[in-house]
Amino acid sequence: MDRADVIIFGGGLVGPALASALDSSGLSAIIVDPADPALAAETSFDGRTSAVSSSSMRMLETIGVAEHLAEPGCPIWRIAVADGLKPGGLHFDPDDGEPLGFMHQNRHLRAALRARAEAGRNIWQLWKAHVTSVDRADHGVVVALEDGRKLSAPLLVAADGRNSKTRDAAGITIARWKYDHQAIVSVLGHERPHEHIAYEIFYPTGPFALLPMNDAANGHRSAIVWSVRNEDAAGWLSLDDPDFAAEAEAAMGGFLGKIEMLAQRSSFPLGFHHAAQISGKRLALVGDAAHAIHPIAGQGLNLGFRDVAALAEVMVEGARLGLDLGDRQLLDRYQRWRSLDALSVAFATDSLTRIYGVPGTTASAIRRFGMGLIGRISPLRNRLMNEARGTSGDLPLLLRGLPI
Ligand SMILES: Cc1cc2nc3c(=O)[nH]c(=O)nc-3n(C[C@H](O)[C@H](O)[C@H](O)COP(=O)(O)OP(=O)(O)OC[C@H]3O[C@@H](n4cnc5c(N)ncnc54)[C@H](O)[C@@H]3O)c2cc1C
Repeated sequence: MDRADVIIFGGGLVGPALASALDSSGLSAIIVDPADPALAAETSFDGRTSAVSSSSMRMLETIGVAEHLAEPGCPIWRIAVADGLKPGGLHFDPDDGEPLGFMHQNRHLRAALRARAEAGRNIWQLWKAHVTSVDRADHGVVVALEDGRKLSAPLLVAADGRNSKTRDAAGITIARWKYDHQAIVSVLGHERPHEHIAYEIFYPTGPFALLPMNDAANGHRSAIVWSVRNEDAAGWLSLDDPDFAAEAEAAMGGFLGKIEMLAQRSSFPLGFHHAAQISGKRLALVGDAAHAIHPIAGQGLNLGFRDVAALAEVMVEGARLGLDLGDRQLLDRYQRWRSLDALSVAFATDSLTRIYGVPGTTASAIRRFGMGLIGRISPLRNRLMNEARGTSGDLPLLLRGLPI
């Protein structure tokens, strides 16, 4: 029987981050994932990117992931929010010399997390591994794999994504709804520099996010996350590149000049879910297994990284006190620590998409009045900026850039 401190189901972006955080403090983890790592290690650019907040980035530096990144992320120095192309939007600019976040290509994040996990002395990665049974008993967790291997640990962590089978098998209920929208993601080349500004442009048909990326050898680029109605998605995807680029240019009001497509377009159905609890008997949920939100504010992965920082801190402190890592009190502490933050980000993001989805000139005038108000009240503006950066609330050590 192979034994570790924690068994993690899911080797996506959040599972390996947790294994690395635990490894940095001498705790061991076995990652189990049915996926073929060769597919996940696909090196060509698929157009998927993530905004990683400054606090998440600090954690990735502290646990040794950032040093494996193929290139530094593109810093975001301003977030500009606009109601369509109307004047009077809102912007957030930090005044303390630290960017609001960094844009990374998902393939670079995946590769860096994989390399860090491979370098970890206390991490075992089991790919193409299929689980046949999970027994979360009073004295520990035993997992049986299809090839006959058995694994044991005091704690099981579900990092198996939005359709988490582990969550469902544990009987944890979720609140879930669909947005009737899909996100089209891709990368645009543009004539003028983005000046490190992330734009969130809200249209009644759905928000359009434009996120700055490092310049390519042949010019400036930005990622887009364009939320479109389900019934329109196929039409948007079937446009040829020049036509799609012309539509994107119009949605942006042409402020970055001539646009061309630099990556394939892909679409993701948009939904919201939130688990009623994020812990159970010898079980903790992290990342999308626990919660998924609309990508407009680029916070989904960051919420998962915040789960990682809190759970790792609770586990490492528990281990130092000689506690059983599946101890109910430790899991309760994790749940208390994360619940409020995850729920408030989820509801803020959900409200944002709904408020901006209301059509009509009155709704638009109210939104612009609201934006003007937030712009003038600096404590409120700073609070929202800290949310984007992931520095609000009771921050775990790793998010402050401190080892546990
Ligand atoms: C269009 C779009 C844009 C986004 N942009 C951003 C952004 O800018 N910033 C941001 O913070 N977030 C963003 N997000 C959210 C972010 O992508 C997710 O929150 C993040 O990928 C979740 O990571 P995860 O590891 O929890 O899940 P996943 O990445 O889904 O990984 C789950 C893993 O579990 C494995 N698995 C599945 N079933 C099992 C099983 N039974 N046992 C074991 N393993 C299993 C899978 O093979 C997979 O490897 C965006 C999301 C979308 C849809």
